Amino acid sequence: MTNEHMHELTSRRTFAIISHPDAGKTTLTEKLLLLGGSIRSAGTVKAKKSGKYATSDWMEIEKQRGISVTSSVMQFFYRGHHVNIVDTPGHQDFSEDTYRTLTAVDSAVMVIDGTKGIEAQTIKLFKVCRMRGIPILTFINKLDREGKEPLELLEEIEEVLGIESYPVTWPIGMGKRFQGTYDRFAKKIEVYRGNEESLFVDFDGENISDEVRQYVDASMLEPLSDELMLLEEAGNEFSVEKVKNGELTPVFFGSAIANFGVQSFFNSFLQLTQPPQPRMSSAGKIDIDYPHFSGFVFKIQANMNPAHRDRIAFLRVCSGKFERGMTVTLSRTGRKIKLGQSQQFLAADRETVDEAYPGDIIGLYDAGTYQIGDTIVGDGQAFQFEALPKFPPELFMKVRAKNALKHKHFDKGMTQLVQEGAVQLYRTPFFGDYILGAVGELQFQVFEYRMKAEYGVDLEFTPMRHSIAKWIPKDKVEKVSTDSRIILVEDLEGNPVLLFENDFVHRLFQDKNPDIKLMSILES
Ligand code: GDP
Repeated sequence: MTNEHMHELTSRRTFAIISHPDAGKTTLTEKLLLLGGSIRSAGTVKAKKSGKYATSDWMEIEKQRGISVTSSVMQFFYRGHHVNIVDTPGHQDFSEDTYRTLTAVDSAVMVIDGTKGIEAQTIKLFKVCRMRGIPILTFINKLDREGKEPLELLEEIEEVLGIESYPVTWPIGMGKRFQGTYDRFAKKIEVYRGNEESLFVDFDGENISDEVRQYVDASMLEPLSDELMLLEEAGNEFSVEKVKNGELTPVFFGSAIANFGVQSFFNSFLQLTQPPQPRMSSAGKIDIDYPHFSGFVFKIQANMNPAHRDRIAFLRVCSGKFERGMTVTLSRTGRKIKLGQSQQFLAADRETVDEAYPGDIIGLYDAGTYQIGDTIVGDGQAFQFEALPKFPPELFMKVRAKNALKHKHFDKGMTQLVQEGAVQLYRTPFFGDYILGAVGELQFQVFEYRMKAEYGVDLEFTPMRHSIAKWIPKDKVEKVSTDSRIILVEDLEGNPVLLFENDFVHRLFQDKNPDIKLMSILES
């Protein structure tokens, strides 16, 4: 392997930002893109939020609602690193794609609104990252506003999320009295100066120099020293190993909107995270320096251009080097495919890529060839990566074709769209009724739209009251007694699933059946 190739491999960082809506993910993303000089893209992120997608040819439904149904990928170059940010859709477009995206990244940045603390969507996304054991770095945002006490926030992280925390930076005041942050590693105060660029001042944590006095309100310094001492004595010990395994989250404080603390955070991020990590496959661990090309499809986006009915399969490159025009094998079918057209995603702009390395994400034109979780390999290789986990939907609808004569189109559409991972499909055991499950309401709307637009089938939905799906081991099914509040269905592969009306019913069930281990995420 050439040095150049090795550098390509080790300089990559592929991550997602997880947060609850309004915590500041978009603002932080913009500031990161600015760091890398992608000003054009920074504008694009904003445009997406305000729904001004003038030139885009995304699905009709996206245009109508001014949102993006699926996530995009932004790549930029910063301090010798190729950085890939994989966007996780939030707000109303929160869906299984949001979860699946997290299977394609090597680390995550968790943005917390300092005025609100840990919120619901953050918890859900955190769990997926935790399950994968990837590094999670925390950015506590909006320090320019009066928020929760920093110690309280740390406690919340530990208690609600169950992960150890280590504040790398520590805030000096907040809101109107926000003075800056102290970096415990660099032993420097980053002085907050509103819209002006930050200034850095040395401080050992105890001895207050004139320079320190010049920039930080004297009344804040003693409490700061006390707090730092408390952190040293009572706080967790820092461990690179624990960060690597996702057992400890380094915490940083800042204000994305003021672009404060963002650059120092990101510099630490690059140091504390690793190059793209190996993936398990049927041929064992595939490391990034494995000599042959391989990757897996984690998302399929349909109809980016309705005129062409094309789909884009998002592929995470895991080993080797992707070159446009190369011939690969789809492991599931053994079919050979020439990858002629491929794209890289820079926000809404699509650019053709000629080469890509492990950690990169590329979009492949797809005329219906790929399925979510598919492995693609080069050079006559034949292995498959581990299947992607399945995530529990929270909304359920019974569905059938309005016109029973259309059942052939209905079946075909159902099969194809479900394979794409647009929604999850369940069947009831005796009558074989179709039940759709989704993580977000929008998935149903997109599904309905596409069944009509692409298969000419009008759907009739009957909402269900159930809101919790749990996989149950096959050998325990017999023990379960169901009623209208707990129903038993099967997923597409025939795995039994229990749908509970609400958490109360679910907990009652668990209390009565302590020996049945229900699973919220199904890993194969
Ligand atoms: P997202 O929904 O997580 O992408 O959040 P946005 O980045 O769109 O931010 C939500 C709102 O919070 C917007 O009005 C932002 O201007 C505001 N915001 C973001 N970062 C900060 C911050 O550091 N301080 C303050 N005061 N507001 C912020």
